[in-house]
Order: sequence, then structure tokens, then C-alpha cells
Amino acid sequence: MVVIGAGPAGCIAARAGSSDRDVTLFEEHPESKRPVQCAGLISKSGLERLKIPAKDWVLNEVRGARFFSRSGEMLEIDGREIKAYVVDRKEFDGYLLNNAINAGVNFINERVDDPSKITFDTSNRVVIATGTNYNLHRKLNLDMPTRFLIAAQYDLKVECDPGFVELHITPEFFNWIIPAGEYARVGTAAFQNPVLSLEKFVRKLKGKNRIKSGSGVLNKVFGTIPLYTPKIRTSYGKIVTVGDAAGMVKATTGGGVVMGGIAAQFAHETNYDALWRNEIGRELYLHSLIRKFVNKIPDKNLDKLFSLFNEEKDIIETYGDMDMVSDLILKLLKNPIFVLKFSFLLPRILFKF
Ligand SMILES: Cc1cc2nc3c(=O)[nH]c(=O)nc-3n(C[C@H](O)[C@H](O)[C@H](O)COP(=O)(O)OP(=O)(O)OC[C@H]3O[C@@H](n4cnc5c(N)ncnc54)[C@H](O)[C@@H]3O)c2cc1C
Repeated sequence: MVVIGAGPAGCIAARAGSSDRDVTLFEEHPESKRPVQCAGLISKSGLERLKIPAKDWVLNEVRGARFFSRSGEMLEIDGREIKAYVVDRKEFDGYLLNNAINAGVNFINERVDDPSKITFDTSNRVVIATGTNYNLHRKLNLDMPTRFLIAAQYDLKVECDPGFVELHITPEFFNWIIPAGEYARVGTAAFQNPVLSLEKFVRKLKGKNRIKSGSGVLNKVFGTIPLYTPKIRTSYGKIVTVGDAAGMVKATTGGGVVMGGIAAQFAHETNYDALWRNEIGRELYLHSLIRKFVNKIPDKNLDKLFSLFNEEKDIIETYGDMDMVSDLILKLLKNPIFVLKFSFLLPRILFKF
């Protein structure tokens, strides 16, 4: 088996495949120059699903999230125990690569840009895990995501609660503050240039004296977040796509490490497409529906939704999962009081009254 791209999806696919076959993993960047395009927030339950123990690449532990509407209304979800880790992505990716190599994977630090090089290979599977670099997709005529968010993120010294991430809702996505120990990752994503809105958000934080005076931007990150397309084809017999290369990203948060990783565990299997869809297809679809719903809500009505969720916080805090949302949705839908309030509120949330 050949795997192209040694991000989380590629490393996990390579390691899983090595259980019963020879695997060669290609990566274009040397480890020291690997670009990091991530806020590094990974759910604890997601790592458990991937059977990855937390190691010294964990920079911070998070137990909940604070959501802010545009008017400043807050909804706090407190998991009351560690719910997510903030990781050093370079170290995390390095750990996954070492795991693969230790399992017997043959690692080659080389870019693959000649599709014929792939098809000459005699192995029975080629896994494309090239993240948001879709050059091979174009050359091989493979399906790729069609819609993308552009993300910008600065590392800044910000006053924040280390136990909570902050999500400040914007019309297209949200601004985030992710405490990462000595500093926080402050970012945003939008369909067009996100830098102006990030600068605006940073100015707002400065205005509230939340950024320590004299402290500048420690690091800047820019990247692309693909939006999940349920009908995307990911299996072409010998060739399969996985991770960001297949758009396996949660539309609610832009997180793709866990979802891509779960699918990657099946990349060597004959019925790969059915297996990954069975595991995460419905969840990714639900994330897309939630994103569409939230983006439809006029700014001033978001507070009404926050109030409703504040009243049902117990259910959300007990059953909420950053990756698998269907359990929580089912629990909410089985609660007649929530359903009644939600049905009453729905038109008032979606339309201006
Ligand atoms: C600003 C930002 C913040 C984010 N924050 C989070 C977050 O907090 N949590 C989360 O879960 N997700 C987050 N994401 C998304 C996350 O980074 C991706 O979903 C994840 O990295 C996808 O993993 P992957 O293995 O599919 O691809 P990647 O991590 O992109 O890895 C692909 C690899 O393939 C290599 N490659 C590409 N083409 C070739 C080639 N032709 N030959 C050889 N090698 C090649 C690349 O060098 C790269 O190493 C964020 C994204 C952005 C942009």
C-alpha cells in the first residue's frame, strides 16, 4: 500500500494498513519545515476513539466552551472534566509518524506529483491523504471538496480562562480563543479574506484590555478548511482519498483531525467507503446541517437560541460531544419540553419579528 501525505490521516492510515501488508508513506516536507495550519483543539473522546494516548504534545487541557453571540450574550457549556486537549500539532504529527514507522511503515521524504509513479506501483491500494493540496486530485480526476473557508490565526498573550475555549459567533463562522498554555490561539474563518475580521477581533480584545500591553503576535497561521460534501466520492478501486483530501471536516468547527483519523483507520479495507460512512458519515452530515442552521439565524435572534440552550444546559453538558453530535440531538428531541420550546422559537429565531 502507498500512502501520500504524512498528516494525521496519512500516518493513521499507514499504521493501520501495516498490520497486514507492506506500506510506504510519502511526505513532501521535512519534519522541521512541515507547515502547521491548526488551532490544535482535539477532543479527549476523539483521541480515545483513535486509541492515541495523551502525551507531552498536550499543551493544555480544556473542560468546556463559552459561546458569545454578537451582542455579547454568553452560553457556557462546562463539561466538568477534561473534554479536549490543545496540542502542539508539529509534535503531535511527529508522534503519529513515529508510531507508523515503529509499526514497520517505510517512510520516504519526497513529494509525489507524478500520478504515473503511483499507478506503476504494484500494491493494491493508494491512499491520498494530501490535506488541502488537491493537485493529485486534479491530475487523477478525483472528486474534491467544492467549498472552502479561509482561516487566519495569531498566537497572542490573551487574558483567558485556561479551562475554556471561547467561540465568538460571526455571520459565517466564529472567532476563537484557544488557550495553549503560555499564549492563546486567536483566529477566525470566513469565505473571503479573514484577516480583516481577525484584526478587528484582536482590536476588540485590546480594547477590553485582554491582550497584555506590549505583547505582539508570536506566530501567524493561515489555512484552508474544506467543507464536507456528503456525496463526495472517496473510493476509486485502487485509489482512495481520506482526511481533508476527502473533505472530512466538521462544518461546525472546522476540526478535521479526529474525523479524518477515524476514516483513515479503514483506508486499507476493501469496503473503505461503506466503513467510514457508517462510522462518521451521519455525524459529518449533521455538523453541516447545524452550520447551515446557525448561519441562517439573524444576529439579534441568536440570543433567543442561547437562552433556550441555557435552560437545557444539563442535557448538553451531559451528552455533548465535540465530534459525534447525533446522541445529543436525539436526547434533545426526546425531551418534550425542549421540542415544545424549540418549535415555538424556531420561526422567531429564523425570521425577524
Ligand atoms: C487555522 C486552522 C485551524 C484548525 N484548527 C483545528 C483544530 O483545532 N482541530 C482540528 O481537529 N482541526 C483543525 N483544523 C483542521 C485540521 O488542521 C485538518 O483537518 C487536519 O490537519 C487534516 O489532516 P490531514 O492528514 O487530512 O491533512 P494535513 O494535516 O494537511 O496533512 C497532509 C500532508 O500531506 C502532505 N502532502 C500534500 N501533498 C503531498 C504530495 N503530493 N506528496 C507528498 N506529501 C504531500 C503535506 O505536506 C501534509 O503534511 C484547522 C485548520 C486550520 C486551517
